Amino acid sequence: MTGVWTELVGQEDATAPLRAASVHASAMTHAWLITGPPGSGRSQAARAFAAALQCPNGGCGQCRECTTALSGAHADVTVVATEKVTIAIDEVRSLVSVAQTAPSQGRWRVIIVEDADRMVERTSNLLLKSIEEPPPRTVWLLCAPSADDVVVTIRSRCRVVGLRVPDPQVVADLLVSRDGIDPDLALECAHAAQSHIGIARRLARDPGARARRDQVLALATDIRGVGDAVLAAADLVKVAEDDAKAATEERDADERNQLLRTLGADDGGRLPPALRSQVKQLEEDQKRRATRHKRDVLDRAIVDLMSLYRDVAVVQVGSGVPLVNASHRGHIEQLAARGTMQDTVRVLDALALTRERLAGNVAPLLAVEAMLLALRPMPVE
Ligand SMILES: [Zn+2]
Repeated sequence: MTGVWTELVGQEDATAPLRAASVHASAMTHAWLITGPPGSGRSQAARAFAAALQCPNGGCGQCRECTTALSGAHADVTVVATEKVTIAIDEVRSLVSVAQTAPSQGRWRVIIVEDADRMVERTSNLLLKSIEEPPPRTVWLLCAPSADDVVVTIRSRCRVVGLRVPDPQVVADLLVSRDGIDPDLALECAHAAQSHIGIARRLARDPGARARRDQVLALATDIRGVGDAVLAAADLVKVAEDDAKAATEERDADERNQLLRTLGADDGGRLPPALRSQVKQLEEDQKRRATRHKRDVLDRAIVDLMSLYRDVAVVQVGSGVPLVNASHRGHIEQLAARGTMQDTVRVLDALALTRERLAGNVAPLLAVEAMLLALRPMPVE
C-alpha cells in the first residue's frame, strides 16, 4: 500500500472499505468502528482514513492535508485519545457539538475516538444521536479492541472494519525497511512483541527494553518459593512505577507550566483561589495518567509471561508451531519438562485472572503477588 496507508502493513484486505470510501462517495458511511487487538494499528488506520478524506489526491501522504491529519494537527480532524480509564461525559458533550459544525477548510469534519470502549453507557447514549444523524460532512471514526467492547446501540449504527494481527515477518520487514533494524533482530522482536508494531520497534531499538522483558520472563524459572514471589512482586511493581514516573514526569511539568502561563500566573507568585481548582484538576488528571501507565506496564509484563507459557504449551504438545520467544528456548524446554500441560493451563489462567484484577482496580502489589505465587513449581507428588 502507498501514501497514508504505507504503515498499515498486513492490513490490505481489512482497510479496503476505508480506501474505497475515501475515493468513491458512494462507498462512504458516516460512522465507522475500527477494531483490532492492541498494536494492530487501529488509531493509525483512523488517522490514515481521515487524511485520505481530506487529501485532494485520496491520501498521497505528502501534502499538507495528509501530514496534518496524520499528526493530529488538522483543523477539521479531532482526535480524542484518553489516557484515563474512562472518557468523561463532558468531553463527549463537546465532541457532539463539534460534530454539528461544518468543516472549516477541509472536505470533511472527522472525529476520531481512539478508545470508544472506555465510555460508560450514559456517555455512549449521548453520542448515539450524533452518530445516527450526523450533518452531511461529518464522519465519526470510533476505535476499540473488538466490536463487543462497544455498546450494541453504537455498534449497530457503525460500519465495522476489523484489523488483524499482522504476520511477524511483515512487521519485521517494516522495521528493516523503515527503521534500518538488522533483519534477525527485527524478526526476533516482532515475535516477542506478538506483532505489536510499536512495541517491536521499541524492543529493537532499545536494549534496555529487551533486558527488562528478559527479566520478566526469567521470573518463570526464578521463583521457587513464597519469599521469592513476594520479593519479585515488589520489584515488578517498582519497575512499573519507575517507568510511569519517567514517562510522565517531564510532560507533567510542561503541562503545569503551560497552564500557569495560560492563567497568567507563571511568575511564581501565589495563585488566586479562583484559579487553584484548574491546577488541581490538571494534577488529578496527571495522577490518573500515571496510574494508567503503571497498569499498562504491568499488563505488558503479564502478556509477556503469557507468551512464555504459551510457548511452554507448544513444546508440551509437541506441535512444532514457531515459538514467540525463540531465544528463550532452553528456558522454555526446562519449564515444559518440569510440569504437565495441566500445570501450564493453571498458570495461564492465573495470569489471565491477574489481568482482569488489575483492570478492575485491585491494588497492583496484591494482584502481582498472587500471580507470582502461581508461578511456583508444583510440589512433586
Ligand atoms: Zn495528500
